[in-house]
Order: sequence, then C-alpha cells, then structure tokens
Amino acid sequence: MTARKSNLKNPIYHDDDAARAHLEALLWPYGPVCPRCGVTGDRITKLQGQSTRPGVHKCKDCRKPFTVTVGTVMERSKVSLSSWVLAAHFMASSKKGMSAKQLQRLMGCTYETAWFLFHRLREAARPSDPGPLGGPGRTVEADETYMGGKEGNKHANKRAKDRALAADRKEAVLTLVERGGFARSFHVASVTAKTLRNEIVTNVHRSSHLMTDGAAYYVTTGREFAAHSSVDHVSGEYVRGEAHSNTAEGYFAILKRGVYGTFHHVSPAHLHRYLAEFDFRYSYREAMGVDDDMRAAELLRGAKGKRLYYRQPGQAAHA
Ligand SMILES: [Zn+2]
Repeated sequence: MTARKSNLKNPIYHDDDAARAHLEALLWPYGPVCPRCGVTGDRITKLQGQSTRPGVHKCKDCRKPFTVTVGTVMERSKVSLSSWVLAAHFMASSKKGMSAKQLQRLMGCTYETAWFLFHRLREAARPSDPGPLGGPGRTVEADETYMGGKEGNKHANKRAKDRALAADRKEAVLTLVERGGFARSFHVASVTAKTLRNEIVTNVHRSSHLMTDGAAYYVTTGREFAAHSSVDHVSGEYVRGEAHSNTAEGYFAILKRGVYGTFHHVSPAHLHRYLAEFDFRYSYREAMGVDDDMRAAELLRGAKGKRLYYRQPGQAAHA
C-alpha cells in the first residue's frame, strides 16, 4: 500500500477563495456556526457585495459579523488563508518536522511569519479536550527521557545516558503512548514519583494496563491501574512477552531525530509546543491509516477553539 501523495498544485495552497472554502468545509461541516452564540442554519446569512470582504457571515441573533477564522489560531492574523493551509500541509507531512527557516524558503515569507505560523499550528496540534488514554483491555506505556544534551553523549545504555543528561540539568520529557493509539508527552520539571504520577493518573484511564521500565518511581503509581508490568532495563531486560516500553522508545527516537536534526535547538520554554507537534504526527500516523492530506485536515480542524477572544466580556467578535 502506498500513501496517496498530496498535490501541491491544489488551489487550496495558493488561492485564498479555495483555501477559505477548504477551511469552511473542515471547521463548519454542517454549515456556518456563529462563534458567539453557536446558532446555525437560517439564523446565519452570508454577506455579499463589493464592499464586503469575502467569507463574512452575519448572525441574525447577535447581529455580529464573523468569518471561519474567528475563535481559531488564525484569528486576526495578516497571513493569507492559503498560506495557513500550505504551512499546515508542511507541518503535517514532514516526518521530522520542518524548521521555520525551511518554511521561510519554501513560502518566500519572512522568518518571523514562518515562525509565527508554525507556533500557532503547534497550538492547533494540541488536543482540545483530551480524554484519558487507554481503557479496559488497553495498554499504555509510560517512559521518560532527557532532551537537550549533546548527542555525542552516547552511552550504550539508555539509563546511563539519561543519568548523565539529568546530571547536566537537561529537560525531562515524559511520554504516554497507548499501543495502537495516541501519544501524549509532557515537559516535566524533574523526574520524580510525584511529577510522573501527576501526569500519568490525569491522562491514563485507571482500567488500563500500565507498562513501564523497572524504575522505582513507577512502582506505587502502577498500583493505581488495573495492571502494571515492567521490565528491568538496568539488569539488561528489555522485552518479556508483552512487557516492554518499545513503543515509547520508538516515539522518543522520532522526537529526537526531529528535534536534533531539524530544529537543532529547542528552548525549554517552547519544548511543550514541539512535543504537541510530535505527539500530533505520531497519533495520526500512517500506520493508523492516516495519509498526509487527512493529517493536514486534522491539524486545521484543531485550529478551532484555541483562541477564544470573542468570549471575553464586552469585546466584539473579530471577523
Ligand atoms: Zn450570534
């Protein structure tokens, strides 16, 4: 099976009317929705005329105009809609991510615009209302790693390398991966039983089978789940039947290849944004039957509900 290649000649990538129609189809699958009062159907009229900007709708209830970008990460940006759609395509289809520098070259925009586009799209990549991972009969792997050390700092054993990086005060990342499902990763202040437990119990359904390595900080948290298995990496054990954390290790391999290979450096303040991007691509991976176009569409759908300016009291909707 080969993945269908997306066609960059598609007008959604260079024509703003086509891009708007594409966004409206994704964000308003059942027709335009007023971002202020949520009404649809015949309560909404599309404004047309020479003095009206394209894509403006008006709500008969609140009488406010709006477009498809209100209440999304695209709201109030000066970037054209086709640029948003194209940037989303690049982020969704680049296996190791794409740097703002690369986007700048490909789109012929400024570095600032490219950086802005990707950072907003990382916000779109973040799950809007994430339910717990796992559930009855499901397995969730939890594992942690460190980012930001010299990649030359290679030890044969992952633990020894992580200890060296931890001593170097590098950034700790916890990832939770449901086998055959989504990944969710966190930048944690430190690797302790308490910090890891906080994220694990908040994000993993208690009826799941939790899978970790043999580190002591997973022992008590493991008891809060339907089952907990671990393999003892220190004594050289990596796989015992179903007990392994190879799925999480695979996720880290993709994350590190991307962050070190594409971005070279990620500031600790922004690490969570990159984790959202890598979680997103992993969660909607090809092995799950998602091709590049479907992944880009999912990313644009995630643009909704991330900028809720219109909910601020006394403020008009920004069309
Ligand atoms: Zn309204």
